[in-house]
Amino acid sequence: MQPIERKPHPKSLYVHIPYCDHICHYCDFTKMLTNPKQTRIYVDTLLKEIADYGSYQYETIFFGGGTPTALSDEDLKVLCDGVKFYASSQCEWTVECNVESTTLSKLEILKEAGVNRLSFGVQTFKKDALVSLNRHHDHQDIITAIQQAKDLGFRYINVDLIYDLPRVSDQDLQDDLKSFLSLNVNHIATYALTIHPNTVFGIQKIKPVTDEVSRHHYEMIYQTLIANDYERYEVSNFARNQEKSKHNLTYWRNQEYIGTGLGASGYLDGIRYTNTKNMTKYLQGIKRDQEEIIDEKMKRFEYIMLNFRLKDGFELSEFFKLFNIEFSKLFQNTLQPLIDKGLIIIENGYAKLSFEGMLLLDYTVLKLTKDLL
Ligand code: SF4
Repeated sequence: MQPIERKPHPKSLYVHIPYCDHICHYCDFTKMLTNPKQTRIYVDTLLKEIADYGSYQYETIFFGGGTPTALSDEDLKVLCDGVKFYASSQCEWTVECNVESTTLSKLEILKEAGVNRLSFGVQTFKKDALVSLNRHHDHQDIITAIQQAKDLGFRYINVDLIYDLPRVSDQDLQDDLKSFLSLNVNHIATYALTIHPNTVFGIQKIKPVTDEVSRHHYEMIYQTLIANDYERYEVSNFARNQEKSKHNLTYWRNQEYIGTGLGASGYLDGIRYTNTKNMTKYLQGIKRDQEEIIDEKMKRFEYIMLNFRLKDGFELSEFFKLFNIEFSKLFQNTLQPLIDKGLIIIENGYAKLSFEGMLLLDYTVLKLTKDLL
């Protein structure tokens, strides 16, 4: 009898906390206002869901939201105590923190549990921009929260920066970048503002900036961060000292992971799934409400789309190993014109995008894969 070939268990776990103390005007995530009567039941349900995936020790764990720090100290401790069992000895354990709800006691709970990476939703230092986003923190709150984290010994810290905000000039963005740099943290994740229809900005019909303006802002950010020793290792993510997010690299390398919590997505056994966004159902134990089997064509497409987000792209030998066909052979009609246009680079056994190719990521990937889908 042939031995059964088992896929290795995913090395990454995502845990979604949907609560927020107020709702930002641009937010399209799965979230709801914090309900103190419900949070403990949610945490217990979440821990059961994690347990149902087995007693594995993950190499990366990520608490995202929503706002993990919107949980009370007690709930946060119950959650961390329940999850620490699943952290391997070298685990990168990240928690997203909202500046306004990050307190010393919460940071202590996280530190004691073994959390070693924090991701702060700073967004901008500009007062009127923060008000228009409906973020309730200010310049000093940002500095205080990050200093507290550093004083407690958190070494790996990310800050989120949002750009393409309405009524923000080049000078405002430069000033913001200066303030971000003054935080002296080694990871900055940048996001262009997207106006989603079901958000306050969408309802107010706020106009997004033009592609040209967005590109100009992106180039300003890129030039400033590169000049300050950050490496752009992913289209929108910059790190110093190689302090890349191992958890997010799991997504960009198209590797499987387990997603838990309300509305969370995961990728397991060749299936991409999304959990229900209905809290009543979730608390009743009904988890997934969408599943998509990723066939070979889709897997190739996703592999290219995601890996091309990375500065280093992907190794051609890995592509062959995964898909049993040479990359250049699979795309024999579409690859060369994109190389000639300077969008794709093949060198030293890797395929990657040029700076221009990254700016035109969607276009480049769709042109490349037009015969695939
Ligand atoms: S804190 Fe984050 S998840 Fe909550 S509303 Fe704001 S952007 Fe959305």
